[in-house]
Amino acid sequence: MVSSSRAVHRCDILGVGAFSDMPDGLFRSYLSPAYIAAQAQVATWMTEAGLQTHVDAVGNLIGRYAGAADGPPLIIGSHLDSVRDAGRYDGPLGIVLGIECVAELHRQGRLMPFPIEIYAFGDEEGSRFPVAMVTSRAVAGTLGAIDAEMMDAAGVTLEEAMAAYRKAIGAESGGGLHLEQARHGPALAYVEAHIEQGPVLESHGLAVGTVTGIAAQKRFSLTVTGQAGHAGTNSMALRRDPLAAAATMMVAAEELACAAGENHVATVGTLSVSPGAPNVVPGSVTFSLDVRAASDAACAILAEAIIDRFQSVAASRHVEIAHTLLHDLPASPCAAELIELMDGAIAAEGGKPMQLMSGAGHDAMILSSLCPTAMLFIRCRGGVSHNPSESVTSADTEIAQRVLLRFIENLGELHSA
Ligand SMILES: [Zn+2]
Repeated sequence: MVSSSRAVHRCDILGVGAFSDMPDGLFRSYLSPAYIAAQAQVATWMTEAGLQTHVDAVGNLIGRYAGAADGPPLIIGSHLDSVRDAGRYDGPLGIVLGIECVAELHRQGRLMPFPIEIYAFGDEEGSRFPVAMVTSRAVAGTLGAIDAEMMDAAGVTLEEAMAAYRKAIGAESGGGLHLEQARHGPALAYVEAHIEQGPVLESHGLAVGTVTGIAAQKRFSLTVTGQAGHAGTNSMALRRDPLAAAATMMVAAEELACAAGENHVATVGTLSVSPGAPNVVPGSVTFSLDVRAASDAACAILAEAIIDRFQSVAASRHVEIAHTLLHDLPASPCAAELIELMDGAIAAEGGKPMQLMSGAGHDAMILSSLCPTAMLFIRCRGGVSHNPSESVTSADTEIAQRVLLRFIENLGELHSA
């Protein structure tokens, strides 16, 4: 392809060198040197696009473009942090696309009836501390109590990391954490463009799609207990093998999620076997179960069906099973009127509107407690993300940019007096 989208090019710039905390690959963790460097670069692009920049109390970079009238702003956002050995587009693409849209409005000398704020969120992935989405939760006002003494892998506390960050960017330290000061006042709406991180758009041959909402999620820890014994002397008929039982359970979870249909997923991602020796029938097995579906009810129904099946497998194999619910996250639906507006923007740019659920969490799900939210998904190659081979095309990105701009313009028409 001859033409290269500037948004893609900018993500590529942010994917290497001083913008990464690891030498061979991309890892940009919250408040790190690479994070500070990336913020400085993005702030430069924001300024060139006509935005006025500042950093809030939780370390988010914000660019503001005034409206024809003051009032609650449209927030466009995504995250600047990344997982370890990340791809280049998960997060930054939504930020740079927002900047491109404002750059175009600025070039035309146009103001929307509302201000626009672009948020480059600092911590979406939980890239550094044992919590995630701290920065968007601070903005939405749902942060609650946060442990300033929580440590990263190197033993640096959140408070120390914030102090070092503020010193590095030349901000007053103020002493202590004042994350609640990042809380946003009323906002008109929040919109986030993000790579799909799944294969649905690709399988439909579409560049972009409208997100209907972020899936409900339940996460369990399960322990199956049987009878440990010698692998040579315990006859097959008399065994109470929790690992063989767990294997049957995992296949059952997969079958039930498949049978539940589109927008239902169930995953066993961890498994530990005790005592874990080649010549010992296991005594106990602990594994995780992650269940997601489009609505709270659908998620609860699938999770209950899976746990019921696990219990009948356990009974028939004479092993015990115990389960603990670790997370229970409600679904976060996007606003119906903004879904319609996004579909309209896609159609107006010559695309075929397609609605899909997000199985992954995003800052949008946090912002939904502040204002109506919308998301635009962009096709990524093979649905691959959280991986260096993550890839988007310039053509798709340019379509996404036009759709996002059209969405902003149409929202402007709705709100013009
Ligand atoms: Zn992301």
